[in-house]
Amino acid sequence: MSYIKNITDGFGTAATGMKFTLKHLFSPNVTVQYPNTNPYTEISAVDKIPDRARNRLLLDPDICNGCTSCARACPVDCIEIDTVKVIANDPDQPTLSDGTKRRLWLAKYDINFAQCCFCGLCAAACPTEALKHTTVFDYCTYDVNDLLYHFSTMTPEQIAEKKKLLADEVKAKAAAAAAAKSEN
Ligand code: SF4
Ligand code: SF4
Repeated sequence: MSYIKNITDGFGTAATGMKFTLKHLFSPNVTVQYPNTNPYTEISAVDKIPDRARNRLLLDPDICNGCTSCARACPVDCIEIDTVKVIANDPDQPTLSDGTKRRLWLAKYDINFAQCCFCGLCAAACPTEALKHTTVFDYCTYDVNDLLYHFSTMTPEQIAEKKKLLADEVKAKAAAAAAAKSEN
């Protein structure tokens, strides 16, 4: 008797399960194929993000003086900076937003957002407010390498030119020092 009951219970359980399966089979699809379909462009979630939210960082390379305070403050070392010293007589020497002369060219400024934990220590350490968090939170990708952001605007040719100017200046100073020494 219990054998028959187990069989009927099994069919009953399967029928209950199938009832829900069939119900959802013919219901409108609620699954979003993110990121191919992006719900954030269709809903006003972005508008609800507070201005002070710590989402993706944005660097203004025209304000950044290359001091590396942000990279040193970063607990996960996801900021990489390369600078080249500006020589005294560089004809292109620009000024920063506060009017001071740029002392370092920003040859490389990379942030790896695959590692960033959005702690905000870098932006807090920045003396010029060149680095700020934005409210942009939706930037997923299929390739993790796409999360390495390059902020420097210098071309490889410009970097090579600035490095050569610096090397020439160092050489000229060394020659002048050697000449002065031989005169004494
Ligand atoms: S937010 Fe934090 S983890 Fe991200 S780059 Fe800045 S210091 Fe590093
Ligand atoms: S972003 Fe700010 S802290 Fe970082 S190198 Fe530039 S000026 Fe310095």
